[in-house]
Amino acid sequence: MDDAGEIPGGVRLLHDPLRNKGTSFTLAERRALGLNGLLPPRVHTLAEQERRVLGNVRSKSGDLERYLFLIALQDRNETLFYRVLMNHIEEIMPLIYTPTVGKACQEFGHIYRRPRGLYISLDDLGQVADVLANWPHPDVRVIVVTDGERILGLGDLGANGMGIPVGKLSLYTGCAGIAPEHCLPVTLDVGTNNESLLGDELYNGLEQRRERGASYDDLVAEFMDAAQQQFPGVLIQLEDFGNRNAFRLLKHYRDLACVFDDDIQGTGAVALAGLKAAMRISKGKLEHQRLLFYGAGQAGIGIGRSVVAALVAMGISESEARQCCWYFDSQGLLVSGRSDIPEQKQTFAHDQQAIANFEDAVEVLQPTALIGAAGQAGVFSESIIRSMAEYNQRPLIFALSNPTTKAECTAEQAYQWSDGRAVFASGSPFAPVSYAAKKFVSGQGNNAYIFPGVGLGVLASGSTRVTDTMFLAAANCLADQVTAEDLQLGRVYPPLSNITEVSALIAAAVAEVAWEEGVASVVRPDNPLAAIKAMMYQPVYPHYA
Ligand code: NAD
Repeated sequence: MDDAGEIPGGVRLLHDPLRNKGTSFTLAERRALGLNGLLPPRVHTLAEQERRVLGNVRSKSGDLERYLFLIALQDRNETLFYRVLMNHIEEIMPLIYTPTVGKACQEFGHIYRRPRGLYISLDDLGQVADVLANWPHPDVRVIVVTDGERILGLGDLGANGMGIPVGKLSLYTGCAGIAPEHCLPVTLDVGTNNESLLGDELYNGLEQRRERGASYDDLVAEFMDAAQQQFPGVLIQLEDFGNRNAFRLLKHYRDLACVFDDDIQGTGAVALAGLKAAMRISKGKLEHQRLLFYGAGQAGIGIGRSVVAALVAMGISESEARQCCWYFDSQGLLVSGRSDIPEQKQTFAHDQQAIANFEDAVEVLQPTALIGAAGQAGVFSESIIRSMAEYNQRPLIFALSNPTTKAECTAEQAYQWSDGRAVFASGSPFAPVSYAAKKFVSGQGNNAYIFPGVGLGVLASGSTRVTDTMFLAAANCLADQVTAEDLQLGRVYPPLSNITEVSALIAAAVAEVAWEEGVASVVRPDNPLAAIKAMMYQPVYPHYA
């Protein structure tokens, strides 16, 4: 069914999630649209339906059950799904995104109910345009695409990674009001090297090992071309690709399409915003920080690049700015004497003795901040955090790895081991912590604060490219939304309950960059923020009769 076409009546309407109102169809609508008898007689308001959904969600026995219930609702009635999500974002986001989505992806083949999103596999080489043409909604404006190789911190989940683009696009709608019919989740199935999936008869993807040769690049190239042909001006978000592909795909396509990599650029911006806000607690200056990253992958390097960009914008030289960022990865401390340093890490390799043990690196460097981004649970140990609290009055501890099971330490551990002095942020949410009669509500340093607003700004300005300056503007804007009250609670991000407002402000900041940099295709309105707010989707039912 097309989006703009006539309203189909009868049971087809009830099976169209974008138009279905369920028991909210009025008696007049039921008569006019051939729905009499197909629904129970009583008409419910959207608010009543919302309460029914919440009652159901809360009565489920576990989060995976809640995830399944919510996805089934999304498949039935998107307005109601987004109403529940947008009105209860703090409760529902962890159920449809991290951490629950991680479990859902791991179990994907076993919990599979019905398709959502578009699968493009190696078998489709030469016919990708035909596959895209099968998508029923013609006005796609945002695509989130993964090849499933690095799903959260869970590794290679192959085609099971589809839960991530589905979840991220739900956040484009839920956090930034980009209407659901404009969103397309895509999984490129190029095989998997996950042995347990390959041995699982219920795995849904190709039964082959990951393609590492030319066919991989051919499939990506064909997809990028076909997507732009089929949906001109579409914004493409690269998501959860493996390290070996993410940096080079971004480098290759960023000047050819309206594309960005959320793990590199989105994470960079969200962490930079958190660091900036943290400076208001620690009374430090960004240029005086020594950040020690655990993990030098997309997230770690993305954050380092963002910090350097922010310092350069403040007038500091690039080489001086890089001295603020130190990395510890699977080979130990990233030092210039190391051989075979990948291109993206080279500028962050400093002249230092090699150090193989993380605790030793902390002792030698005495950093002001630890930033965890390697998916290695528990590496911020008690002795490491105690050392950080010895070197710093307010140690910054950012445990950004997802899902919760991969966090470098918990919120409670960070506060306890630092005697309540840590400034803590995490990738997945943690419940508030009470320590020494003080309540701490830590912030969620998750790129959900950034990418929806960036996407909305790109769409509002009709930007043809996504630039690094846009992410810097987004980070600055997000940091500015953190209030004294947030900081008082130890939170370096605004509460998620404000996310649509925050996203609108980020969108306006991003759109301004597009207009300034000459990459916009839409004429700047007199009041961009008002124009942006006016284009945001609201989860309310239309009147059909
Ligand atoms: P990646 O695969 O690109 O990089 C992982 C890095 O960790 C590599 O540098 C690798 O060398 C290092 N590493 C792996 N095992 C290690 C070990 N035992 N010791 C030291 N270093 C080790 O992955 P990524 O995209 O950078 O993601 C890493 C983590 O960050 C994941 O858990 C992901 O969920 C999380 N992340 C969080 C956010 C957020 O919004 N909070 C955003 C992006 C990524």
